[in-house]
Amino acid sequence: MQIYKPEEGNVKVKKRIFIGLLTACIALIVLALVAGMLIYFNKFGQWYRYILLAIVVISGVFILIASLGLAIVVMTLWHVKTFFGLHSLMNASINILFPLALSLGKMLHIPKDIIRSSYIEVNNKLTQSRPIEIEPSRILILAPHCLQKWDCPYKVTADVSNCRHCGRCDIHRLWTLSRQKGVNLAVVTGGTLARKMVVHYKPQAIVAIACERDLTEGILDTNPLPVIGVLNIRPEGPCKNTCVDISRVSEAVDFFLNKKAPRREERSND
Ligand code: SF4
Repeated sequence: MQIYKPEEGNVKVKKRIFIGLLTACIALIVLALVAGMLIYFNKFGQWYRYILLAIVVISGVFILIASLGLAIVVMTLWHVKTFFGLHSLMNASINILFPLALSLGKMLHIPKDIIRSSYIEVNNKLTQSRPIEIEPSRILILAPHCLQKWDCPYKVTADVSNCRHCGRCDIHRLWTLSRQKGVNLAVVTGGTLARKMVVHYKPQAIVAIACERDLTEGILDTNPLPVIGVLNIRPEGPCKNTCVDISRVSEAVDFFLNKKAPRREERSND
């Protein structure tokens, strides 16, 4: 059985948790609609019927779009078929249903971070299903400030080249990787600075490193920009002296450079 350890940045999270919640959301809306139709035919006066009919029609269109998008997502994840040009529909479906999935997960006592991790895995897989080749200069690695050793006096958020490469934290290793690959690297203190960096570098693709919450918000924020999320590792708890699996970052960059297929996506991780 797969064990989930968010504090260790374990990325072996089942994509089916998120997909299952999305499907359950659609099923609940359909049930609500059926209940609405029964009320429409039996109970209320004329005005209520018109209002109810409008709700049913709008909800019906919503369900149709969300269900179609979800079906395409599932087929893409299960390698049944890749639907080129339908990523907007997939994104719209997932983004519309994501808050509902979180609410449903709360009712079912599923921790938010598990749902977010599952969403990040789904997002990564969908991003990797696209044929992408991007110039190194248009790729941005976005790293969180908490990767830096807490007592390091150098201000790497202002400029990563302020790092003195003592090797005590992963900022040095990310900097080396970014130089080797020729891609951009920015270290940010939060969402506001991350958005500024995106505006500054104008990337066509982002490799984002963060915790579940920040990664989820970042992916939703930058949509439809392709983003591969890599969870940080938190041996000392959140927001302090965190680290990252550099090989995962490297694989994500290589995917955008179209150098090789991602290695770690396994069918067993569905
Ligand atoms: S590697 Fe760079 S950022 Fe990290 S502690 Fe050393 S000097 Fe500071």
